[in-house]
Amino acid sequence: MIDHNNRNIDYLRISVTDRCNLRCRYCMPEGISTLPMKDILTFEEIRAVVEQAAELGLRHFRLTGGEPTVRIGLSILIREIRSVPGIEKVSMTTNGILLEKMLPDLISAGLDSVNISLDTMNREKYLEITGTDGLETVLNSVRAACSAGLKVKVNAVSLFSDEENIRSLIDLARELPVDVRFIEMMPVGYGRQFPGISHNELMKILRNLYPGMTKDDRVHGFGPAVYYRIPGYRGSVGLISAIHRKFCSSCNRVRLTSRGFLKTCLCYSDGADLREILRADMPEEEKKRMLRESMREAILRKPDAHCFESPEAMTENAAMNAIGG
Ligand code: SAM
Ligand code: SF4
Repeated sequence: MIDHNNRNIDYLRISVTDRCNLRCRYCMPEGISTLPMKDILTFEEIRAVVEQAAELGLRHFRLTGGEPTVRIGLSILIREIRSVPGIEKVSMTTNGILLEKMLPDLISAGLDSVNISLDTMNREKYLEITGTDGLETVLNSVRAACSAGLKVKVNAVSLFSDEENIRSLIDLARELPVDVRFIEMMPVGYGRQFPGISHNELMKILRNLYPGMTKDDRVHGFGPAVYYRIPGYRGSVGLISAIHRKFCSSCNRVRLTSRGFLKTCLCYSDGADLREILRADMPEEEKKRMLRESMREAILRKPDAHCFESPEAMTENAAMNAIGG
């Protein structure tokens, strides 16, 4: 569906839970509280939202969290979403800890692609960031997902300027057919306390490490990453630079939080409380109409741009585990 800025909004990220089996310091540090299960949308409710989103022209759906793989029965949800008319792609963003064992079920349910979050190839640093000694487990999941034929991307938040760390992450794109993407830290939730490195600085490091690197103009997905190729590497290197290369004018996405709120921009708390409609006592047809209309109105007034450069103007205070990244 087209918003008031002529942007085609065709992508919904769905946070299926605010719970997680890791405790990344910039996202969901130790001690953070989670919602009672009754406040989280059921699969039936998520499907009802997806149906109306599809009616409005949304085509790509990404399951995220918290950690989507900790939600029991995830493959049932994927199958449900896949069966909605008009859906073109169902993908997932995961920390990869539980992924390897779940792959056969997820793929047979219709999962198209997976983004695996991995900020470092250093075992101690991984433990320090996430609270879990899980680097090898995640790497096994990356390899297994590639072997299973899924389209795989590895996403790293740009935390360190350490060249060795950057080089060893990018080495994954030499070994495997995966794109390795760096994400600039956004001042959302606990991320405000961890500025990370700027992508101007990262770009300088990349040019220095890979003088033969060239721009890659092929289409890699439906997101805002800018891609580069390194001769001899199977995958590309991507930069998602929300701060230093604002991409709001081509933003194609909205987000459904785990408690059923449709968010139209990471920066602002504006949107639509779909759970209120989903749980209201009214005839099914009326509910569908109201869901669709509230989504349409919220999408139409999607903010023109984020305001990360002046965080005091942000009205969103939720942590990233509730929003879904
Ligand atoms: N648990 C899953 C995972 O880690 O991939 C899915 C949810 S997580 C919130 C989605 C993505 O958001 C992860 O790649 C995470 O690193 C990223 N993220 C979390 N907080 C962020 C922030 N403040 N700025 C940029 N990315 C962030
Ligand atoms: Fe969990 Fe993902 Fe947040 Fe890390 S980034 S705490 S894995 S939701």
